[in-house]
Amino acid sequence: MKAVRVHEVGGPDVLRYEDIAVPTPGPGQALVKIEAIGLNFIDCYFRAGLYKVPLPFTPGNEGAGTVAAVAPDVTAVKAGDRVSYAPVIGSYAEYQVVSADKLVPVPASVNFRTAAAVTLQGMTAQYLACSTYPLKPGDTCLIHAGAGGVGQLLIQVAKMRGARVFATVSTKEKAALARQAGADEVILYSEQDFEAEVMRLTGGKGVNVVYDSVAKTTFDKSLNCLGLRGMLALFGQSSGPVPPLEVSRLAKNSLFLTRPGLGQYTATREKLLQRAADVFGWIQAGKLKVRISQTLPLKDAPEAHRLLEGRKTTGKVLLIP
Ligand code: NDP
Repeated sequence: MKAVRVHEVGGPDVLRYEDIAVPTPGPGQALVKIEAIGLNFIDCYFRAGLYKVPLPFTPGNEGAGTVAAVAPDVTAVKAGDRVSYAPVIGSYAEYQVVSADKLVPVPASVNFRTAAAVTLQGMTAQYLACSTYPLKPGDTCLIHAGAGGVGQLLIQVAKMRGARVFATVSTKEKAALARQAGADEVILYSEQDFEAEVMRLTGGKGVNVVYDSVAKTTFDKSLNCLGLRGMLALFGQSSGPVPPLEVSRLAKNSLFLTRPGLGQYTATREKLLQRAADVFGWIQAGKLKVRISQTLPLKDAPEAHRLLEGRKTTGKVLLIP
């Protein structure tokens, strides 16, 4: 089968399109024939070596397809089932073996491309807005990179929960997309001081929560945007990691700082199925719209990474094996 492999960490060109053997499912595992692969920023961290796995490896953390075979002890799924999964590394391939308990059922009315577009980023938006800081009507939140994959979904979920949503983006085109997703106020953080704007828009009160995935270039001001007992949910680092923090900075407003990850929020099968069911339920009800901006063949993974890291993508990018 064809797969993208990483033999040494580095820039997008280390992603090599190769022939490898179709894997065989071991105990507890299923073999999935992948129909669509979701591109995620975390794929770049693994490729670049920021997140470490033994070499060589097959990157990719999200896929959707059909179960092709299962190990004899597997009962959770069977051959022919339509499934998706995330975060499980190794999806840049035609087939992948996945622990059966990491697979979620894809409803018949949801196609594979949509499933591969919302499993990772949709469950992320779900846990951030419903669990990390469970938004309620009247809350205000700030979402950075509002036109991105997670960004557009998180804006929609935050609106569903009744929050007033501020979003930041770098260009006017992206501002239009964040508005379309439902943001009440969009701030061009490439031109405007987002801290000053948030304070102006909240009459100096600040927001209840900042969902910050940009990190290095936003972290300081994100902290300053928080009101009394506000929470900074630092869930990514698209611009680079945050330097060491003087913890006493949190004292100013009795702030909460958390660094959440999807793996921990879907650690049990019950939580995984519940979050996935919420996301697919919203899609089926027409409450959550996913915008697939680019679809590339798997062999063009280097180009997909260049676009994502170059801030040239909006919404979701898919790779097709
Ligand atoms: P996005 O589609 O959001 O792409 C990243 C966006 O970040 C860019 O489009 C850009 O938007 C913004 N950005 C700001 N500064 C930079 C920079 N220096 N370089 C590149 N991009 C920059 O990606 P994803 O939706 O896949 O992921 C968003 C973030 O969320 C990532 O940091 C990812 O690791 C994290 N994440 C975390 C999860 C978790 O559970 N902890 C799960 C899923 C994602 P603009 O041009 O508008 O600034």
